[in-house]
Amino acid sequence: MTPDDHISRLGQVLVVCAPSGTGKSTIIEMLRKEFPNFGFSVSYTTREPRGQEINGREYNFVSRETFVVMRSRGEFCEWADVHGNFYGTATKPVIDMLDAGRDVLFDIDVQGAKQLKKTFYKGTFVFLLPPSREELVRRLEGRGTDSAESIERRLGNATGEMEQARFFDNWVVNDDLEEAYQELKAVYLAGRCKPSLRPGILNNIMDTWGDDG
Ligand code: ADP
Ligand code: 5GP
Repeated sequence: MTPDDHISRLGQVLVVCAPSGTGKSTIIEMLRKEFPNFGFSVSYTTREPRGQEINGREYNFVSRETFVVMRSRGEFCEWADVHGNFYGTATKPVIDMLDAGRDVLFDIDVQGAKQLKKTFYKGTFVFLLPPSREELVRRLEGRGTDSAESIERRLGNATGEMEQARFFDNWVVNDDLEEAYQELKAVYLAGRCKPSLRPGILNNIMDTWGDDG
């Protein structure tokens, strides 16, 4: 039996933000592969599915009308207009996963992260930085999924997003992918040691002292 078997652990909120093209999806996929128990917050979006995306897996794809109704009912803990489409996180599934002790990973934009920080202020917020603008352009073009117009818009937004980096507690530069992954993993594992996520552990261990302590 490990010490945690009889002691509840609350889930950790892990938020990763980056300008589009930095490598966020790539690095998040590596983390989910190594830690398959991660709960993933499947966002709602009004954008069209791309490539191999499946409804309910990468995103819940909804109409603008449905999104607006959900928003007016207060179902989102954060939402944003990103590159002309709406994106939002439904609160209930996240709370359920955290209460069950599962860490939850968020792939959201910087506007959403700032809103989420108000609700989940004890969470771990990571900003992934591209090594340079030149390299960001190379990655956006090399990915081959976006039109020239979409790339221009993403690059235009990147300037404002980079300015928001200072609101984040953790910075990881995605130059060498493996090195960046190791840094993200270190930040995540350190976050698991926060006392706020392990409310009962100290008392439980102190109880093993019995009356002799
Ligand atoms: P994002 O999710 O941030 O928009 P992606 O994960 O789709 O970005 O990555 C954009 C492109 O950059 C992809 O083609 C990916 O393979 C590549 N990429 C990711 N990380 C690196 C890296 N460290 N070095 C070189 N290319 C990378
Ligand atoms: P994409 O359309 O390329 O999948 O995502 C575009 C941007 O929207 C990315 O920066 C992604 O992190 C962000 N995004 C995805 N889901 C959400 C969400 O639920 N809320 C917010 N605020 N941003 C999101």
